[in-house]
Amino acid sequence: MRVFNFSAGPAVLPEIVLKQAAEEMLDWHGMGLSVLEMSHRSKPFGSIIRQVEEDLRELLAVPSCHRILFMQGGATAMNAIIPMNLACRSGNPAVIDVVHTGLWSGKALEEALKYSHVNVAASSENNGFASIPAQEQWQLTEGAAYVHVCPNETVHGAQFHFQPDTGSVPLVADMSSEILSRPIDFSRYDVVYAGAQKNIGPAGVVVLIVRESLIGHAMACCPSVFDWQNVAEHGSMFNTPPTGTIYFCGLVLQWLKHEGGVVQMEKNSLEKSAMLYDFIDNSRLYFNPVAPDSRSRMNVPFFLRDASLDEVFLIEAESNGLVQLRGHRTVGGMRASLYNAMPVEGVAALIRFMRDFERKKH
Ligand SMILES: *Cc1c(COP(=O)(O)O)cnc(C)c1O
Repeated sequence: MRVFNFSAGPAVLPEIVLKQAAEEMLDWHGMGLSVLEMSHRSKPFGSIIRQVEEDLRELLAVPSCHRILFMQGGATAMNAIIPMNLACRSGNPAVIDVVHTGLWSGKALEEALKYSHVNVAASSENNGFASIPAQEQWQLTEGAAYVHVCPNETVHGAQFHFQPDTGSVPLVADMSSEILSRPIDFSRYDVVYAGAQKNIGPAGVVVLIVRESLIGHAMACCPSVFDWQNVAEHGSMFNTPPTGTIYFCGLVLQWLKHEGGVVQMEKNSLEKSAMLYDFIDNSRLYFNPVAPDSRSRMNVPFFLRDASLDEVFLIEAESNGLVQLRGHRTVGGMRASLYNAMPVEGVAALIRFMRDFERKKH
């Protein structure tokens, strides 16, 4: 039976990438050893990490004014690393504006409070994070250190479908669960960060794309390994990088280029998510609470109107090869993540199962 993995992360990887990694595992390019065993200072690994950087630059059309860095600690560490690098740029502790749209922007907000004053510029908390506040409603602080957004809220399933404009104030975005699923306009975004384990590769590395002029302003207390200037000066090898993860990410990026890049991924995710939302909206058993203009194309939470059926739904889904559909523990219900590596057949199989389940139970 074919298995489709709807995990929110670590998430499905392209099967062809896993096969290639398996083939190369014992003997990378005739060297007689695995990539995982190579020094990060070796020539072969140097060529791997530079190629990953080059492919990211090409796929996302990253302009030369932005640097691409590979770091560790996940997006969670970045929620502290970013204020440590940006909050004191003007000398005094500044204000950070946060647009609060769900669990992940909430985590960024909490962490930022340790380093700076924080202004909640807009929030959708009072409607259960079921929409993205329109930019006209944001109350931004003049001269803020930066504005933080999470354009795709992985848990609540809400996504920005407009381009924020913060003028001369730097715009920082946690794109962990949507990077590489649509183009990014780097004239607007000054810092973009993403943990790899949703749409780039396995867990273990976080990609940071940062405007060069924002590098070199870290607080004195910032650990050296998290100071962007050190990381940039050492080509993301100030200390040992997660070599195996970076190698895997490289294979995924090669696959992405072959599949038509982010423009094609955007088309695919529009198609996949529209199929699922249409089905849910026309069903009597399932519902999705997010406003249609704010729905995520990557993470589709859905709920059964009769929640007593949740467990049997998950068990039967799994026996049909549809796995990791349980919703995040803070919201319950179900969640289908439709990252780049989820084929359209997976979504079709999920809908077939959901339709059959509804017929049987209602
Ligand atoms: C998964 C996720 C994170 C957490 O990433 P870690 O690698 O666990 O630190 C942060 N932000 C968003 C938007 C996510 O989807």
